[in-house]
Amino acid sequence: MWALAIWQWESKWVFRDSPHTVLLNHADHGTVSDLHFVCAECLAGVSFDNVAITTGPGYESLKLLPGSAERKTRTSQKVTVEAEHFGRSMDIIGDRWSFLIISAAYFGVARFDEFQAQLNISSNILSDRLANLSNHGMLARNRYSERPPRYEYILTQKSLDFYQIPLMLALWGDRWLTVPEGELFVRHHIPCGHRLKVVAICAECSEPVSAASMSFA
Ligand SMILES: [Zn+2]
Ligand SMILES: [Zn+2]
Repeated sequence: MWALAIWQWESKWVFRDSPHTVLLNHADHGTVSDLHFVCAECLAGVSFDNVAITTGPGYESLKLLPGSAERKTRTSQKVTVEAEHFGRSMDIIGDRWSFLIISAAYFGVARFDEFQAQLNISSNILSDRLANLSNHGMLARNRYSERPPRYEYILTQKSLDFYQIPLMLALWGDRWLTVPEGELFVRHHIPCGHRLKVVAICAECSEPVSAASMSFA
């Protein structure tokens, strides 16, 4: 699913004027032009503003465990390592910090000092990554104060579309990066209230695309 999310975003934003270097075939009809990511329960679209996240039973236990800081670091490292294996979109996103900045933006973080407080990131790294993300069209810079000049960083259509990629990663993490007490986080689809499970729908035949029914050419 994660690979499908990356493929879809790349098709739209990286290979805008040329065919994707990876062709996706589905069932008997051949090439897929686009995918829609929808909720498996209600079949409505999944986007950054209709997914609710709550902490699961494992979350509190993790905070109480001795050595939990170390454990937490290992978990995020594992996620980062997985993230770095995937494709060209990761080149645009660049690195772990950029990935975290975009993720924070989905939670409504917009201003420099807010990013700094949320992510515990040094100011030189933060300004570097914000500039890079702006150059790639992932964030739009908006001046909200003249003196001193201050900017907020707003999500763009490009980064809104990118949401499926960290979401798939997060759903994978919800399922696999658990502790014996249970999941750390639980996600629900707000329109229907069900536990979130995302399916990719083929734009050609409107049938779900799964790893078993697709082949990369
Ligand atoms: Zn739903
Ligand atoms: Zn199809």
